[in-house]
Amino acid sequence: MANAIIIHTDEIALKGGNRAFFERLLVENIKSRLVNFGDFDLKRRKGSVVIRFQPELDQSKAGKIVTALKTVFGIAHLSLTHECSSNLTAIKEMAVKLTADLTGTFRLTCKRGEKRFPHSSMEVARQVGGAVLAANRNLKVDLHQPDQTVFVEINVDGTFISLAREPGPGGLPIGSTGKVVALLSGGIDSPVAAYQMMRRGARAIFVHFHSYPYVGQESIEKVKRLAKIIDQYQLQSKLYLVPFADIQREITAKTDGALRVVLYRRFMLRIAEVLAKREGALGIVTGDSLGQVASQTLENLYTVGSVLNLPLYRPLVGTDKREIVKAAQKISSYETSIEPHDDCCTLFVPDHPELRATPEQASAAETKLDVTGLITEALQHLEVMKINAES
Ligand code: ATP
Ligand code: MG
Repeated sequence: MANAIIIHTDEIALKGGNRAFFERLLVENIKSRLVNFGDFDLKRRKGSVVIRFQPELDQSKAGKIVTALKTVFGIAHLSLTHECSSNLTAIKEMAVKLTADLTGTFRLTCKRGEKRFPHSSMEVARQVGGAVLAANRNLKVDLHQPDQTVFVEINVDGTFISLAREPGPGGLPIGSTGKVVALLSGGIDSPVAAYQMMRRGARAIFVHFHSYPYVGQESIEKVKRLAKIIDQYQLQSKLYLVPFADIQREITAKTDGALRVVLYRRFMLRIAEVLAKREGALGIVTGDSLGQVASQTLENLYTVGSVLNLPLYRPLVGTDKREIVKAAQKISSYETSIEPHDDCCTLFVPDHPELRATPEQASAAETKLDVTGLITEALQHLEVMKINAES
């Protein structure tokens, strides 16, 4: 049973004058994440946030809350904790109670946020550690490699004693660095790319291009499910579903087969840029990884990216597939990503696509197309939906 959770931030603390802004956002994001967990009282401090619960949390609820908090970027680590009043007798009593069932070795570390507290951290560690030892014959002290660390944090309004510290997701609070448009394909890479930018504080607007009716409705459903999985990390996501079949048909009918994938991608980025402007987003994100497929040679990446004015972010460009798979497993998108789906970009694609398309070649091919008209048409028929991880 714990009556509070203490959350620590690390990187936010580096943000100097902006720190209050980052911490306020973090608090808002924590509150939104915990709306379904009933009442709590939340206090922000320099470098930490304390959430108090009345009544105490039972184990199952505590576990669920910790799991939820592990999706909130900006949290470096968190602890289920027990609060008592900031006087030595109360601290000793609480520490003895919490360690009553422990065996093996332990160390007690003490931090004082309240410098007016009449005992030094060392003194508290010595006295409280001594009380724990005296009360539990199954415990020994080991300062270097203890089985268990007991964390004591003394503040003005209360002292927090925790037996464990769990890693948070790290990063910066969602929204703290702005917005990006993230292209989600239904594969393994794009959700990981979006996640990485989100972890750096950017809210991601998701965009998927689909070739319905050439591909089944299931591909779209799959992308919705992927969006829902990564929505956990930002909540209240938006997903744009853009019809792409007409553009593909035009490209197929009027241009050289070898350039198709590059041309598809250039249209995707142009449309994504229009949506980014609408949304006030300052960059486009894709899951490209250098050399992974034919469309991802340096030449093709250049030719595709050259249609944009906004920056194009490819956070996975230097990452091996194996590392991307690991990351996808960690954020739980992998299982969904590997379900079979029809990829719109494999439609009408020749066996030997151009590996070194130049911007000039692509532009020349595009003179045969009504680029503006096709984009306008696609934008007129897009669908936008709200994604909610909780539903
Ligand atoms: P992924 O696993 O993300 O599909 P990939 O290695 O299969 O990536 P490509 O299919 O060439 O690579 O796609 C490269 C990137 O282009 C994707 O990561 C994604 O960001 C974007 N993309 C590709 N197809 C689509 C699509 N239909 N809708 C939205 N974005 C797409
Ligand atoms: Mg793909």
